[in-house]
Formats: sequence, structure tokens, C-alpha cells
Amino acid sequence: MLSPSDERALRTEAMAWLAVRTHDGRDAISRGDLGQFTFRGERVPLIDAGRGIRKPGNCQAALSIMTVHTPRGGRRPYDDTDGPDGFPRYKLRGDARGSAENRSLVRAHELGMPLVWLVGVAPGWFHAIFPVFVAGIEEHLDQVVLAYDHAQALPLPTSPMEEVLRAYAVRETRQRLHQPVFRSMVVRAYGTRCAVCALGHSQLLDAAHIVPDRDEAGVAAVRNGLALCKIHHAAYDAGIMGITPDYIVDIRDDILEEVDGPLLEHGLKGLHQGRLMVVPERRAERPDRALLERRYAEFLSA
Ligand SMILES: [Zn+2]
Repeated sequence: MLSPSDERALRTEAMAWLAVRTHDGRDAISRGDLGQFTFRGERVPLIDAGRGIRKPGNCQAALSIMTVHTPRGGRRPYDDTDGPDGFPRYKLRGDARGSAENRSLVRAHELGMPLVWLVGVAPGWFHAIFPVFVAGIEEHLDQVVLAYDHAQALPLPTSPMEEVLRAYAVRETRQRLHQPVFRSMVVRAYGTRCAVCALGHSQLLDAAHIVPDRDEAGVAAVRNGLALCKIHHAAYDAGIMGITPDYIVDIRDDILEEVDGPLLEHGLKGLHQGRLMVVPERRAERPDRALLERRYAEFLSA
């Protein structure tokens, strides 16, 4: 058994290792890669082969938790997680065999041990959020409360501060969970390339929403996304560039008439009436035509 300080050291190393492989938590990581972490010469997979909760044999507390990818039915990977107070929830294992794993989450809570949360963004691919902490146990609901900061106090239902804390937690969850998972999911689906120009540098890529998140009703989140480089994302949002439901790039008329340097010539005007250079291989991940149509109508009317 590792001592609590060694168990902390393992987590610190695991998270540093993950940070390198995910560009500080921005990019998705595969199940195979998650199995390659080593600590003091021994391999310590960061994900369990068959279970949601990963507790290495020599640890008291869980090391990682996993939320599976649910591609169908228009659900987002985090749809089941957000609690009424804005903090995400993680379900305990309901069956009798899960009791040891459930206990390892309670231990993580008692010891204040940081965990890695792996959120599925495609089969075999995960967005890693780290560190997260078990901030509370809701035994009656078979779930634990997750927080991004060890010091984070849970809002008390009776506290006059409740609304303020809730707003804070909702914002935090959006910034730490929703937005990064959306980006990971979309950028991975496009093979880490800009849909418009095929630029392949993760640090220069964003996931653009086709219509605002709250309007995507019933559409799998990835189908409301486009992987775009910074310049094409900005051009899309500024109404300089539109994309038709048939995946054709449309540059605004006044821009086409402008004469300027190479970025305008090649990066914008040169792409006019061309097809998207990259779309996801999997049909189910390609941009939704109805959403593109709505957005393109806005582009035309602006
Ligand atoms: Zn681009």
C-alpha cells in the first residue's frame, strides 16, 4: 500500500503526464494512451478496462472516474451530470460488486485526494478534467458531488449565499466541463484540422458552435460544431464567412472586392465557393444541415 504522501505523488505525476499529452487538458486522449502511464517504473493505467471507477491496487482512493460517451439521442456527454446547485454529480455503482469502488470514492473525499475525470467524447476517446475532488457524498441518491477546487465549499440550501454560489458553480462547470468537452469532441472529430483550410495545429483550433448551444435542441453536440482555426472561427462569427448547408464556403461580397495581403487573398478570398476541406469521417459526426441552414440564412440577411 502506498502512503498517503506517495499516493499524492502518484496523482501529481499522473496529472503532469496528462497535461503534456493533452496540451494542458485541451485535447482528447485515447484509451490506449491512458494505459501507458508509469509511476516509479511500474505501469499504472489511468483508466479501468471495464469499470467507471479506477482504483489502483496499492491506493486507498480512486484515481480516476469515467463518464461514458452517449452519442445517440442528441444527448451531450455531460447532460446527466449537472446537479441543481451547479456542481456536477457522478453516479456510484449500483450493484453489490461495486462497493469497493464506491468506497474508494468515499476515501478520496475523506483524504481530499485529487482525481482525474475522463469524459467520453467518442468511442475510446476521453476528455480529461483534472484535478477534480469529491466534495460531498449523496448516499440517498447513489452519487457523489464533484468540485474543481479542494477548498470549494458546497452551498447550503438554507444559506442566503445560495444563489451567488450556484451562479458561481454553474459558470465554473461551463468553463471546466461543458466548453472544454465540446471542444475536445469537435476537434477530435475533424482529426485536429480546420474544416475550412485544413490547418492542423491544435493550439490554433477552436470548436465553433453553428447555432448557440441553447438552441441546438435534440442535436448531438458534435453536429452543432465545426473545428475552425482562429481566423476562420472569427470570420464565421463576424459574418465575413458563411457555410452553406452543402458545406460550401461563402465569403461576403465586400470582402471579395477588397485587395490586400496574402491572408486576405489566400486565407479568405481564395476559399470562396470551395467545399469544406475537412469533415468528420463518421457521418454521425458531420455538421447538421438544418443547423447550417439556419446559420447561413443569418449570414445572408446580415
Ligand atoms: Zn482555417
